[in-house]
Amino acid sequence: MYIVVNCPHCGSLMVARAENRTRSCPRCNHRADLRGLRIVARAETAREASAILRALKAKEGGEEGCEPRFKRFVV
Ligand SMILES: [Zn+2]
Repeated sequence: MYIVVNCPHCGSLMVARAENRTRSCPRCNHRADLRGLRIVARAETAREASAILRALKAKEGGEEGCEPRFKRFVV
Protein backbone atom coordinates (compact mmCIF):
# COMPACT_ATOMS: atom_id res chain seq x y z
CA MET A 1 0.00 0.00 0.00
CA TYR A 2 1.22 3.46 -0.91
CA ILE A 3 -0.05 6.79 0.31
CA VAL A 4 0.10 10.31 -1.08
CA VAL A 5 0.63 13.01 1.52
CA ASN A 6 1.52 16.67 1.71
CA CYS A 7 4.84 17.59 3.28
CA PRO A 8 4.03 19.47 6.51
CA HIS A 9 7.01 21.73 5.95
CA CYS A 10 6.71 22.89 2.33
CA GLY A 11 3.32 21.46 1.30
CA SER A 12 4.77 19.45 -1.58
CA LEU A 13 2.96 16.25 -2.55
CA MET A 14 4.91 13.04 -2.12
CA VAL A 15 4.37 9.29 -2.28
CA ALA A 16 5.31 7.09 0.66
CA ARG A 17 4.94 3.45 1.57
CA ALA A 18 2.09 3.14 4.06
CA GLU A 19 4.11 0.88 6.34
CA ASN A 20 6.88 3.45 6.75
CA ARG A 21 6.82 5.80 9.68
CA THR A 22 8.70 8.66 8.12
CA ARG A 23 9.43 9.98 4.65
CA SER A 24 11.97 12.57 3.59
CA CYS A 25 10.46 15.23 1.38
CA PRO A 26 12.05 15.24 -2.09
CA ARG A 27 11.72 19.01 -2.27
CA CYS A 28 12.79 20.39 1.12
CA ASN A 29 14.35 17.24 2.66
CA HIS A 30 12.16 17.58 5.74
CA ARG A 31 11.67 14.22 7.48
CA ALA A 32 7.92 14.00 7.91
CA ASP A 33 6.22 11.72 10.43
CA LEU A 34 3.65 9.98 8.22
CA ARG A 35 1.37 9.08 11.09
CA GLY A 36 0.65 12.73 11.74
CA LEU A 37 -0.14 13.65 8.14
CA ARG A 38 -3.46 13.78 6.37
CA ILE A 39 -3.53 11.17 3.63
CA VAL A 40 -4.46 12.72 0.30
CA ALA A 41 -4.83 9.43 -1.59
CA ARG A 42 -4.11 5.72 -1.35
CA ALA A 43 -2.80 3.35 -4.01
CA GLU A 44 -1.99 -0.33 -4.22
CA THR A 45 1.12 0.00 -6.35
CA ALA A 46 3.95 2.47 -6.75
CA ARG A 47 2.95 2.96 -10.37
CA GLU A 48 -0.61 3.85 -9.42
CA ALA A 49 0.63 6.15 -6.67
CA SER A 50 2.91 8.06 -9.02
CA ALA A 51 0.08 8.39 -11.55
CA ILE A 52 -2.15 9.89 -8.87
CA LEU A 53 0.67 12.18 -7.80
CA ARG A 54 1.15 13.41 -11.35
CA ALA A 55 -2.59 14.01 -11.74
CA LEU A 56 -2.77 15.93 -8.47
CA LYS A 57 0.24 18.06 -9.35
CA ALA A 58 -1.11 18.79 -12.82
CA LYS A 59 -4.42 19.95 -11.39
CA GLU A 60 -2.69 22.15 -8.87
CA GLY A 61 -1.16 24.06 -11.74
CA GLY A 62 1.95 24.78 -9.74
CA GLU A 63 0.16 25.65 -6.55
CA GLU A 64 0.98 23.45 -3.59
CA GLY A 65 -1.19 22.55 -0.66
CA CYS A 66 -4.15 20.48 0.38
CA GLU A 67 -7.02 21.10 -1.99
CA PRO A 68 -10.52 19.70 -1.38
CA ARG A 69 -11.22 19.64 -5.12
CA PHE A 70 -9.27 16.39 -5.48
CA LYS A 71 -11.90 14.40 -3.68
CA ARG A 72 -12.12 11.67 -6.29
CA PHE A 73 -8.70 10.44 -5.21
CA VAL A 74 -9.39 10.71 -1.52
CA VAL A 75 -10.38 7.60 0.40
ZN1 LIG B 1 8.83 19.44 1.98
